[in-house]
Amino acid sequence: MAFTLNKLPYDYKALEPHIDAMTMEIHYSKHHQAYVTNLNNAIAGKPEDSMSLEDLFKNISKQPPVVRNNAGGVYNHNLYWDVMKPNGGGEPTGKLGDAIKSTFGSFADFKTNFSNAGATRFGSGWAWLCVSGGKLAVCSTPNQDNPLMDVSECKGTPILGMDVWEHAYYLKCQNRRPEYITNFFNVINWDEVAKRLDNAK
Ligand code: MN
Repeated sequence: MAFTLNKLPYDYKALEPHIDAMTMEIHYSKHHQAYVTNLNNAIAGKPEDSMSLEDLFKNISKQPPVVRNNAGGVYNHNLYWDVMKPNGGGEPTGKLGDAIKSTFGSFADFKTNFSNAGATRFGSGWAWLCVSGGKLAVCSTPNQDNPLMDVSECKGTPILGMDVWEHAYYLKCQNRRPEYITNFFNVINWDEVAKRLDNAK
């Protein structure tokens, strides 16, 4: 039962002008597809072939790098597409908005914290908003690691993930990662993040 490429929930051009169509097309159809293909090739005929990604992550330290990198790549991008949408952005309300305010002080403080996590991740990786021990936390991971992995310094259930690999922004923003991070906040699907908060509790 090989892994498959999740369907993108919107068109390549749907997140314009914040994230451009060419970046979306290459990111989804080349990068994400490659993680799916490489993971399937790495686990073909092995017990891992019938495991969930979440179960794989629990003992990912026992897997070779090809499985860790590509399983992370599949999961992280599935989450990334889902937590963005056209006409997204703004500030979350309800339980999520309240949790962000009580944890970080204000939405603006959360935005600064999360943006810094992405901006200061050296090289390639991800910034995360996680639920950890019933509380919200911001952290970042290198490469295609995530907070569900036993190897991760920060552990928790990710509810928002921002890809800060250059392939996520280089065509439009070149070396200006902070500009991409600002743009990302204009496409966040807070309803999806709120749903993931509910499911994480
Ligand atoms: Mn990516």
